[in-house]
Amino acid sequence: MNRLCPIVVAALAGLLTIAVAPLRAAQDPPRGRIFVLMIWDGLRPDSVTQRDTPNLYRLEREGVRFDRHHSIFPTVTMANAAAMATGTTPEINGLYADSLFWWPVLGQRPGAEKSKTLVTMFGVPAFMESTATLEALNAPDALAGHLLGIDSIAQEVEREGGYIAVLGKQGPTFLFDDRFNTAGAGKDLLGEPHRDYLFASDDAAAPATVASEIMNAMPSSETSGVLDRARDAYFTRLATDRALPAAKQAAGQGRPALIVLWQHNPDITQHMSGLGTAPAIESVAADDDNLGRLRAAVDSDGIADRTDLMVVSDHGFASIRMRVNVAGMLVSAGLKKSLKSTDVVVAPNGGADLVYVSQADFKDDAARHAILQKIVNFAAAQEWCGPIFCRDLAAITSSPRGRRRRIISKPFLGAIDGTFAQAAVGLYNADRSPDLIISFDENPDEDNRHLTGPENPAFAINNNGQQSVPNQSAPLVRPVKGVIYADLSARFTTGMGMHGAAGARELHNYCAAFGPDFRRNYVDLYPTSNADVTPTIVQTLGLLPNIGAGGAAPTGRAMTESLTGGQRYPGAVRTQTMTAQLELQGVQVISTLHMTSLGGESYLDSSSVQRKPLGSSP
Ligand SMILES: [Zn+2]
Ligand SMILES: [Zn+2]
Repeated sequence: MNRLCPIVVAALAGLLTIAVAPLRAAQDPPRGRIFVLMIWDGLRPDSVTQRDTPNLYRLEREGVRFDRHHSIFPTVTMANAAAMATGTTPEINGLYADSLFWWPVLGQRPGAEKSKTLVTMFGVPAFMESTATLEALNAPDALAGHLLGIDSIAQEVEREGGYIAVLGKQGPTFLFDDRFNTAGAGKDLLGEPHRDYLFASDDAAAPATVASEIMNAMPSSETSGVLDRARDAYFTRLATDRALPAAKQAAGQGRPALIVLWQHNPDITQHMSGLGTAPAIESVAADDDNLGRLRAAVDSDGIADRTDLMVVSDHGFASIRMRVNVAGMLVSAGLKKSLKSTDVVVAPNGGADLVYVSQADFKDDAARHAILQKIVNFAAAQEWCGPIFCRDLAAITSSPRGRRRRIISKPFLGAIDGTFAQAAVGLYNADRSPDLIISFDENPDEDNRHLTGPENPAFAINNNGQQSVPNQSAPLVRPVKGVIYADLSARFTTGMGMHGAAGARELHNYCAAFGPDFRRNYVDLYPTSNADVTPTIVQTLGLLPNIGAGGAAPTGRAMTESLTGGQRYPGAVRTQTMTAQLELQGVQVISTLHMTSLGGESYLDSSSVQRKPLGSSP
């Protein structure tokens, strides 16, 4: 709604209120509801047990457990924070990953190349988990409020006069309030007033009346064991001591209230120690203590009858088999000029890499097609490579010689042989799609007993081949399934944790909910995803439907089968298998995607890649 003037917005809102009011009267009164969304970053469903997480175990048994919940691919934090905050996939919200190359978008803006700040910050892939970086990106001289292609749930709540608190890990928190302005003195990045809210992340807090007090009391990060444990507890205390009383007041006045609490754990500790290690197990228990404090505060504030509480993770997790330096390998294969060159740019995101090919270096379709096919052939032949997603659909692209359109019977294939089209999995965005998204390979059934623990050998694959490196993971307590290859900084080694790929262990994350709007003792077996979170909040808070600029609307669905008085059977569930094949010298590469769909929404379940010698029997 950010491109409409306030008068038009008010008029639209008025019209919609008239249309929607009778529906509201027929349902349970949703006004004055409080919704608490607690995110345990990187929590896997199999980490939730009566012994390690008694509070979450109780919550999912008393309320709803979503047993077929999905993360959005690439299975990284920022893509899933954007999905949760808006109810959309990257095709609408435009936010693909944690590390993104913005110059193809920003470089087209008049005067962009003269702005030292923009060139320095965004002339190379930028890491998005920083409030300052995100503010610079969404400032008037850059994306001008259009970081996300549609309003976030916090903006929807604010538009209806509600209370918002967004607390926790820097980066994802900003996406819930994506016009947040550190220096705004009560105004957002676009100069609009920002009322009745609380924002606190590791690196920024507001409003000004409490900002310095909050930042001064911020605990420092631990350097071993459960990392960021004190911070997660601190953000929880802000939720119980400041946000819940303010939400109670708003709800008492019949206004909606939303509290988002994003915990660093277990993600940060699983990354650095490895899955199944003592610190990783403790980090999940630390989140559970914070959940216990949150529920106790809801009870003691006397607001349990109007407070819905959802616990969700942004993505799953896996153990690193070895680290792969894709940019370095492309350089030594002669497919990229140098590590810092911009002819081919690789944005590494752990379990997935985004590849951008420069329009200046590859001027026409044929040149771009040729370099992309070479990169795909190079990557697909290697053991670490999973499915690859190409920007363009095969069906609408001319042949390499540019003469004839190819007739394609499989509309999910990409224009480059051996790839899937990004559109097939909700990833195509005309302005922002990378040319390729390369998922690394995940083996969901192998466990980490030979990988995690300092005594295990560790390897990295780079332009010099496979090299031995020290294993930096902690001793293993109990083996955990799911092994991937990963690309990221050198501090990540074999045995540590990672995510980002299109594998089953990363695509299947955790979700449960409890409160007056959710059914009791219910296991939801319908497919659900992080893009369904916001439509469900909209329904429970009784908000008006979201309308984005240019008519963009949430692609996620309200998970009505889990709601009291909701529609019990939301439609037929269908499954689909897609394959893409590529024949290289002596090897056939067969990539497979498994998807589920319900209504108009598709959910990516798993992927696999097989490599077999040409001529071998199937
Ligand atoms: Zn995460
Ligand atoms: Zn992570």
